[in-house]
Amino acid sequence: MQITICGGGNAAHVLAGLLGSREELSVHVYAPYGDEAEHWREGVRQNGGITVSTPEGIIIGRPNAILSDPEAAVAGSQLVLLALPAFAHESILSQIEPHLTPGAWIGALPARGGFDLGVHDILKARVSDFAIFGFQTLPWACRTQVFGQQVTILGVKEHVDLIIWPPEQALIISTRLQEMLGVTLTPIANFLGLTLADTGQLIHPGIMYRLFHEWNGQCYGKPPLFYQGVNASIARTLQQMSDEVQTLCVALQARYPGLDLSAVRPLGDWLQYCYHASISDSRTLQSSFATNRSYAGLEAPMFEADGGFIPDFQTRYLTEDVPFGLLVTRGIAELAGTATPVVDKVLSWAQYRLEKEYLADGKLQGTDLPSTRSPQRFGFVDLDEFMLEMGYLPAGEGSSGPDTSSI
Ligand code: NAD
Repeated sequence: MQITICGGGNAAHVLAGLLGSREELSVHVYAPYGDEAEHWREGVRQNGGITVSTPEGIIIGRPNAILSDPEAAVAGSQLVLLALPAFAHESILSQIEPHLTPGAWIGALPARGGFDLGVHDILKARVSDFAIFGFQTLPWACRTQVFGQQVTILGVKEHVDLIIWPPEQALIISTRLQEMLGVTLTPIANFLGLTLADTGQLIHPGIMYRLFHEWNGQCYGKPPLFYQGVNASIARTLQQMSDEVQTLCVALQARYPGLDLSAVRPLGDWLQYCYHASISDSRTLQSSFATNRSYAGLEAPMFEADGGFIPDFQTRYLTEDVPFGLLVTRGIAELAGTATPVVDKVLSWAQYRLEKEYLADGKLQGTDLPSTRSPQRFGFVDLDEFMLEMGYLPAGEGSSGPDTSSI
């Protein structure tokens, strides 16, 4: 099977090493960002491949080609993996779209919020030529050690949910992906569940807000621990955000009986689902963060300045998890008429720090809405229409799949 990995960051290194070690696979890396392809080629040449250090040992794999030309990278590939921050999904998809092979399986690890909205917008009527899938999260916590050469897997999630459309292909694709990646994958019911189940949208903006919402320019002696530094009051905010998402799910299920949102777990349950064996004290949400080995040592994003450290507000914890996460959920809540006061507080602070305007007068109508994946960006103003057109309604409730005719 020919596979294309799109991206040149941490996740792409892991995939290139793992998949490149399998002789039966032909692995292309599509790395068009800056001069990454050149650096990857040089790194792989020097190292003899990508070395992946895992908790169980070392795997070395060599991709067959590292390319910056989209046609050479994806033509003929049966599997296309977007291993990129969500803000790069649409530009990469637009580049590869003309060269995709009909029948290809195209997916993102992780999808983040509204991935299906972005895919439909780019592929339009061609979307039904492909199978589309999205992972709820990246299976690994990983960091590149030497660019194009070495990456470390810090932790592996025990379970990862994924959605595959059309459902008839779910079994074959999930079985194949599970076997290739060596992680337990569980197919879920619909892309709406995946969007709402995105826990990065709660954890990252929520912790950033609680760490830095009162920041007044002072330097820190060292960056605080990000996940393991969650204290009782940060945990309370995260719990409130998670509760607001659960309230939205209840409202949607009351309106659409049979709608399966079982994949949208409360945050504490999700930590247990993914990290059970890594958490030594799961009595509270706070202790589940503080004692999670997979999060050990990961620090808050900061810059060195004036002999100390100041917060980095351009971190992907905000640039990705706000427009491609929390704002998508907030947009769905707005369509459903469900209040989200704590989420709104976090978003109002985040947009100020990002120097963007998404929420204006309490609605998703700010000038920077076009750079998000909220339903409002794609013109949805009515919940029923949104649910029907995107194929989220259970069979028998007027939908047999995404209706792309008006997108
Ligand atoms: P990363 O920060 O390493 O990715 C950066 C790479 O993305 C760049 O090297 C480049 O190849 C590409 N890129 C960035 N901006 C681009 C642009 N404008 N156009 C084209 N390409 C661009 O990201 P990662 O750590 O590999 O994470 C990938 C995804 O997985 C993200 O959604 C991230 O939030 C998620 N995730 C990562 C981890 C982790 O431990 N690394 C854990 C959980 C989730």
